[in-house]
Amino acid sequence: MKKILVTGALGQIGSELVHALRKKYGDDNVIASDIRPLENHPISQDENFEIVDVMDYHRFLYVAKRHEVDTIIHLAALLSAVAEAFPKRAWEINMTGLVHALEIARELKLQFFTPSSIGAFGPTTPKINTPQVTIQRPSSMYGITKVSGELLCDYYFNTFGVDTRSMRFPGLISHVSLPGGGTTDYAVDIYYDALRKGSYECFLSEDTFMDMMYMDDAIDAIIQLNEAQAENLHHRNAYNVSSMSISPRVLAEAIQKEIPDFEISYQIDPIRQNIANSWPDQIDCQAAKDDWGFSPKYDLTAMTKEMLTQLSNKLLIKP
Ligand code: NAD
Repeated sequence: MKKILVTGALGQIGSELVHALRKKYGDDNVIASDIRPLENHPISQDENFEIVDVMDYHRFLYVAKRHEVDTIIHLAALLSAVAEAFPKRAWEINMTGLVHALEIARELKLQFFTPSSIGAFGPTTPKINTPQVTIQRPSSMYGITKVSGELLCDYYFNTFGVDTRSMRFPGLISHVSLPGGGTTDYAVDIYYDALRKGSYECFLSEDTFMDMMYMDDAIDAIIQLNEAQAENLHHRNAYNVSSMSISPRVLAEAIQKEIPDFEISYQIDPIRQNIANSWPDQIDCQAAKDDWGFSPKYDLTAMTKEMLTQLSNKLLIKP
């Protein structure tokens, strides 16, 4: 990776990834793009930002050519809860956008990375210690686009030799940007409400276990996988990654260690509860550790301390 085009760069992952990539590779070597600029978003105000709607193949190709990039990091997508509300649009953006990105990578001979998700698994997948290679019959539209995306990326690697790489992200937790409408969003919202209100009403039931990871570890993992030697990659699309398996109750208890009066209550959203029930409780990440040295730094305790410290500075509220 020497010159990188990032799509969907103003979202939850892109907002932090672009910053980390620019620190590592230089400001001019990371072109951020999104469907539109966002007022007050620092990334969309600078000269290395381009408007790219990934549905517009010609504009997408033009921007990749104009900046002579050698890598595409494709983040533009609709997330799980939004995809369930707008399934046709999710199919179009998540699949046509991906095909466009892969076609451009093929034509310009670029390295390619796009995230998959634990949503690529389904109710018939083993729930505990979910293997790297296992049954993938997702029941949500998001999951269907993610497993189709994994297959497409493998197809472009096997058929056209495009250097496609991917990982199945769990819920990502960050103090910088708010999540974009996923099933794991509660794990970010809970920290904001803990500080602002001292309580949180959760849309999932207390014992819904899912994998999660702190954003810093996700950003490090993206850079690590993209820099890994190709010959070490026994899997490509996509590696299981996670650093903790938690439920709302477990997360609330971790917050109570820092804010003893914090209270959690439950008002279940059946759509997101159904999605969560169809995902694994805890995935096995050994292949990512063996092939490219995946080693997340934050566990639940470290992440909770960091989230509360960072958010209390941002919101100017003492825990
Ligand atoms: P997000 O919703 O925060 O950001 C997505 C970005 O894509 C937004 O800035 C949006 O404006 C942009 N976008 C939407 N349609 C577009 C289009 N037609 N053209 C160009 N840009 C468009 O999402 P995120 O959390 O940053 O996720 C990025 C990727 O990571 C997605 O593929 C997502 O499925 C995957 N992922 C995220 C998580 C997570 O917890 N955040 C977990 C697993 C996988």
